Amino acid sequence: MQIQRESTCSGILVLCLVLLSYLGAVASGERAEDRDAMVKEQILARGVKDPTTLSAMRTVPRHLFLPESMAPHAYQDRPLPIGHGQTISQPFIVAFMTEIIKPGPGRKILEIGTGSGYQAAILAATGAQVYSIEIIPQLADSAAARLKQLGFTNVATKSADGYYGWQEHAPFDAIIVTAATEFIPPPLIGQLAESGLMIIPVGSPFFVQTLMLVQKRDGKTISTNLMPVRFVPFKRADEE
Ligand code: SAH
Repeated sequence: MQIQRESTCSGILVLCLVLLSYLGAVASGERAEDRDAMVKEQILARGVKDPTTLSAMRTVPRHLFLPESMAPHAYQDRPLPIGHGQTISQPFIVAFMTEIIKPGPGRKILEIGTGSGYQAAILAATGAQVYSIEIIPQLADSAAARLKQLGFTNVATKSADGYYGWQEHAPFDAIIVTAATEFIPPPLIGQLAESGLMIIPVGSPFFVQTLMLVQKRDGKTISTNLMPVRFVPFKRADEE
C-alpha cells in the first residue's frame, strides 16, 4: 500500500515536471517569430552581422521588458516609452551598440542607464559579465527584479549616478552609455581597460547627438564618430 502511494506521488511529480518544462519552453519561444523578423528586417538588413549579437537579439524576449500597454509594439522598428520619461532604444540601435563593443564570455562590461534592463540582458545573453547603473531608483528596482526573474545571473545592478562609474569592478573591457552626455565623464575613461571600447552618445540632450566610439590605446583615447542618434538626457544626481 505504502509503495503504491509512493509510486502515485512520483508519477504526479514527473507529470508536474513535464508540464513545467513544457510551459517554460512555450514561454521562451513566445514571439520568437517576431524576433526572427526583427533581426532579419531591421538588424541584418542594416548591416549588423556579428553572430553573437544576432543570437542574443533572437533570444531575449524584448516584450517582457516593456510596460504591458507597450508590449504589443515590442518588435517594431522604433524606441518605446518605459515610464518615468525614459525610453528603450530601437532594436537596431541596441544591436549596433552591442556588436561594436564585442561582448562575450570573459568580457566585463559596464552599462550606464539600465532603464528596462533590455540592453543589459542582451549583453548578458552573450555570456559577458555585466554591471549596470541606473539613476532612477524605481527603474533600477524593476529592472533588477525582471533580470532576476528571467534568470540572468551574470548582471549586477545598482541605483546611482553613473557619471562616477563602478570603481570596485573596474577596469572594464567595454563601457556602454545609453543616455546622451554633453561630454564624456572622465571617471568612465579612467575605468576603461587598456584596449577597451566605449560607446556613448555625445551632444546636446535636446538635439541630435553623435554616437561615438572611444578606444583606449597606451592610456590615450581615440574617438570615432559613428552616426547621428537621439537619446534621452544623461542626468546628474544633483539635478533632481
Ligand atoms: N538601456 C536602457 C534604455 C535606457 S534609457 C534599456 O535597455 O532599456 C536611458 C536611461 O539612462 C534612463 O533610464 C535614465 O534614467 C538613465 N540615466 C540617465 N542619466 C543617468 C546617470 N547619470 N546614471 C545612470 N543612469 C542614468
